[in-house]
Amino acid sequence: MGGVARVPVAIALGSNLGDRDDYLDEAEERLAGFLNGAVASGRYETDAVGGPAQSPTYLNEVVVGSTQLSPRSLLEALQTIERGAGRERPFPNAPRTLDLDLILYGDFVIDEPGLQVPHPRFRDRLFVLAPLSEVAGDWVDPVSGLTVEQLRDRCA
Ligand code: ADP
Ligand code: MG
Repeated sequence: MGGVARVPVAIALGSNLGDRDDYLDEAEERLAGFLNGAVASGRYETDAVGGPAQSPTYLNEVVVGSTQLSPRSLLEALQTIERGAGRERPFPNAPRTLDLDLILYGDFVIDEPGLQVPHPRFRDRLFVLAPLSEVAGDWVDPVSGLTVEQLRDRCA
């Protein structure tokens, strides 16, 4: 009998506190522990959105790969990695050592307390769409029906 099916997933990484490259390096390593064929985009320096004035700039990237974890287990795994990076949540949009957002989980559409997939704000975020189009430009967003590249061009 076959094993549990693997589902392609896209995860957005961001850091704007401390040694950002170190946090992203560490996160990539941890993600590779449960993502098959993980591929990372380049890293993008971006202005903080929505945080306090003069928030430090972010380093953002996207990692895609496939997983046998359920969406909820995957989110929990991401939160465990965030905690390992000393992530704190003093207030919304506070600067963070590491933020890991689940952007896409195959063509699943999930709207539960604490878990929304596709990520509800990714279509307006060039800091997600630019790196995501590097590694998964043809991926079709199951909500809008547009590809990642189309979403990026619309956003830019
Ligand atoms: P943000 O990334 O929006 O700045 P947080 O990282 O603090 O804020 O996340 C806030 C909450 O968002 C988390 O507790 C998590 O349960 C919820 N959440 C809902 N959907 C997702 C998703 N697709 N990826 C990551 N977190 C999500
Ligand atoms: Mg987050």
